[in-house]
Amino acid sequence: MRIPVIAGNWKLFKNQADAAALVAGLIPLVKDTVGVEIVVSPVFTSLSAVREKICGTNIKLSAQNCYWEEEGAFTGEIAPGMLVDAGCSHVIIGHSERRQYFGETNETVNKKIKAALKAGLVAIFCIGETLEQREADKTFDVLRDQVNGGLAGITAADLAKVIIAYEPVWAIGTGKTASDDQAQEVHAFIRGLIAGEYDQATAAAIRILYGGSVKPENVKGLMSRPDIDGALVGGASLKADSFAGIVNFGK
Ligand code: PEP
Repeated sequence: MRIPVIAGNWKLFKNQADAAALVAGLIPLVKDTVGVEIVVSPVFTSLSAVREKICGTNIKLSAQNCYWEEEGAFTGEIAPGMLVDAGCSHVIIGHSERRQYFGETNETVNKKIKAALKAGLVAIFCIGETLEQREADKTFDVLRDQVNGGLAGITAADLAKVIIAYEPVWAIGTGKTASDDQAQEVHAFIRGLIAGEYDQATAAAIRILYGGSVKPENVKGLMSRPDIDGALVGGASLKADSFAGIVNFGK
């Protein structure tokens, strides 16, 4: 049984006061929700304000990125162990915005995932094709490279602490969602890749989230598909009622 995950990615929004207010509004709307793992990902400087609010609730804390070293002369970076120290249980790794604007590659993503797992974090590992790649019929090749590169050297046991987020880049923040069929097709492909690289049991256990303009209005259809185990949500996670509407997809 795969427990669904609904994770909010707040990106570069919400200072401490706004982040605390957002999560304070969310808590009562999701407090009775069971059987869904709820995760929010504020900016680094708002982690502690959110941590304070979610203490004792069913909401988990994630960061949006980390470095792969534990410490050292790496100005501006943050270590996975420091995220644990700040109250995080999860970290998003390899988001397409980081690949696009900050030069992250399958190799650096792989190092970050390994470091995050070593520190005890759950890694939300993002993959996805651009519109250009989809139109050139390269979606499956790109995803195969991202999965193989990102997970290189990671054991089946370690994979239990990895959540894959399939986010077609053309659907992020654009209002264009992959259809339920398009998303299901890709999710089944990704699960097949994991079965091939690892084994059936590992593939059956891994959670694969969909991301890209998920809203309360489209989440039900996506979640009804057999290989879609949740959502990574950007824009719609910035308001308590819309995020709660996604978290409560089953109600
Ligand atoms: C994201 O940032 O991961 C994302 C999916 O954004 P949005 O929901 O706004 O498309």
